[in-house]
This record gives sequence, C-alpha cells and structure tokens, in this order.
Amino acid sequence: MPRIKTEKTRVKRKSDRLMRGVPVHPKCARCLPAKCCRYFSLEIDRPTSKRDYDDLLWFLAHGNVSIYLTDSSWFLMVHNDCVFLNQKTNLCKIYETRPQMCMEHSVDECEFDSDYGFDEHFKSYDDLMRWMKRKKIIR
Ligand code: SF4
Ligand code: SF4
Repeated sequence: MPRIKTEKTRVKRKSDRLMRGVPVHPKCARCLPAKCCRYFSLEIDRPTSKRDYDDLLWFLAHGNVSIYLTDSSWFLMVHNDCVFLNQKTNLCKIYETRPQMCMEHSVDECEFDSDYGFDEHFKSYDDLMRWMKRKKIIR
C-alpha cells in the first residue's frame, strides 16, 4: 500500500503565505523543502530468506531509494519530487484537486518534527549490510 499523505500547501516563507492569501498550516509554512511532497513509499514483504535480503540490497544499489522498518513492517521509499510541487513557491500546483492520499495526510503526525520516526532507516546498501551483520543474518 502506498504510504503517503498530507494536507499539502506549502510556501517559502510565512510572509509569502499571507500575501498569497493561501491557508497554510504554520508547520507546513516552515517546512522547507516540503518534506512530504518529495517521496512516496510502498509496503514490501518482510524479508525471511537470504534471497529476500539480497533483493533489498539490490533495491538499495539504485539511486534515490531507501528502505525503512516501522512497527515490524518494511517499506521501500522512493525519493522523488511530486511533479505537482511548484519548486519556486513550495506550493502544490493542484491543491484543490490533489490526490486523496495527500488530503488524508495529517500534519499532526507528519514527518516534519523528526527523521520520519522510523525504527530503522537504511539509506544505502552499506547501511543494510551493517544491520544484517549486526543481526547475524550474514557474517
Ligand atoms: S511534512 Fe508536515 S509540515 Fe511538512 S509540508 Fe508535509 S504536512 Fe506540512
Ligand atoms: S499533489 Fe500536491 S500535495 Fe500531493 S504530493 Fe504532489 S505537490 Fe504534494
């Protein structure tokens, strides 16, 4: 399941927001760059075999991806900006008609305040290798 979110409205500075007359949550106004519009993630099967882990390493051998673990669930995270994010204003270009996923994203539980709050976050091939060694999945 894609795991994205938000109430999206972004601006560069609070003054921009007021000048534009756009209702923006204060947190979003300070969120530069709009963190939740720059990735999406998909839940993946929990790895149970060496081959599964090898596949995860293969994911991480590619650019702009990471893998995270939260509440015992595994996710592949793709770090790519949404095409509807206005890079100059930091605002959503289709705010009124943005996807449901974006509308449902709660600013109260968003990733603004933390490094996403994951239990583990493997940002590279080596990150996962080190973790696998620590867990004695490989030697
Ligand atoms: S991550 Fe949170 S604060 Fe930042 S733009 Fe998204 S909802 Fe707003
Ligand atoms: S559609 Fe708008 S709110 Fe949704 S991710 Fe793209 S820029 Fe952000």
